[in-house]
Amino acid sequence: MLLCCALRSKNADGILEQKIQSWEQEQVNYIVFDLEWNQAADIRTRQENSLLFEIIEIGAVKLNEKREQIATFHELIRPQVFHTMNQVTGELIHLNMDQLTNCRSFREVAADFIQWCGNDCIFCTWGNLDLPELQRNMDYYHMTPVSCKTLKYYDVQKLFSIAFEDKKSRRTLQYAVDFLGIEKDVAFHRADTDAYYTAKIMKEITDQKVFDNYSFDTYHLPQNKSEEIWVCFEDYAKYISREFPDKPTAMADKKVLSTKCFLCGAKTKKKIPWFTNNGKHYYTIVSCPRHGMIKEKIRLRKSKNDQIYVVKTMKQAGPEIVQDVLNKKNQVRSNRKERRHSKKEDLF
Ligand SMILES: [Zn+2]
Repeated sequence: MLLCCALRSKNADGILEQKIQSWEQEQVNYIVFDLEWNQAADIRTRQENSLLFEIIEIGAVKLNEKREQIATFHELIRPQVFHTMNQVTGELIHLNMDQLTNCRSFREVAADFIQWCGNDCIFCTWGNLDLPELQRNMDYYHMTPVSCKTLKYYDVQKLFSIAFEDKKSRRTLQYAVDFLGIEKDVAFHRADTDAYYTAKIMKEITDQKVFDNYSFDTYHLPQNKSEEIWVCFEDYAKYISREFPDKPTAMADKKVLSTKCFLCGAKTKKKIPWFTNNGKHYYTIVSCPRHGMIKEKIRLRKSKNDQIYVVKTMKQAGPEIVQDVLNKKNQVRSNRKERRHSKKEDLF
């Protein structure tokens, strides 16, 4: 089976661009990285700064295509935004400001890190927070972006759940290390050690099919219809839209609301029409003549430009999933009834 990976290569303008190529055709390195960041120690400092989290440490392990360690990167960073260590952060990562004052700036360290990553690599992180934070900090210092497009990467926390648990749960790094019986020879919560453990966990995932489940980092969203993302995984499909000015515009878009079968493209019949239980998530159940019941879910999300984008997932639905969606719909109906009832009571 072919495994698609995100490769980055330098174009003529020096901008690192994302390319999608076959893993079997290309030698791809995995860059397993972790960041530590500091945040404002008080509300006033928080309000004064546009940057919420300032990266103070980058740790990374480079793995070859067999997921064997071939290099490491680790450097502390001199803070330029927050000059007091947030108490919680400091206690967690065991770092104080004195240790950082003689370090190099973010600009210098990040530039070296990106160069160290090389052109043909795919980023891997524990969870989905580090890649957007790296890009946000780079933006803050007006650095050349890692990519101008939606980046494919591996969320190893998700891969762990798919490989060893229920696909849905999201465990801590320490839990996964304990679960797999990996030797705890270094302390947690530092960028270099957390990257080291994340790389060890990746090595434990021996079922190559698990690596079909890449993630998308939406720091940069599709700019137009043609860039929108539509991918089919083993048992579900995902759609990531371009940005819309507001929720009504997003929820009126044909492609967003389209319920064609993700497996064969056939027209489907509506079994439970689109409804929402919180104004952010929308659900529908449709039926394909060939593939049976399909559940679709829309998540409305805010982009960094304060606009709206849509992440839609589609998957085949057994009776339990159909019942679960039906229960949600009934709950919405009974909540509405209750509200109407209490309004009436207020009138008397
Ligand atoms: Zn179908």
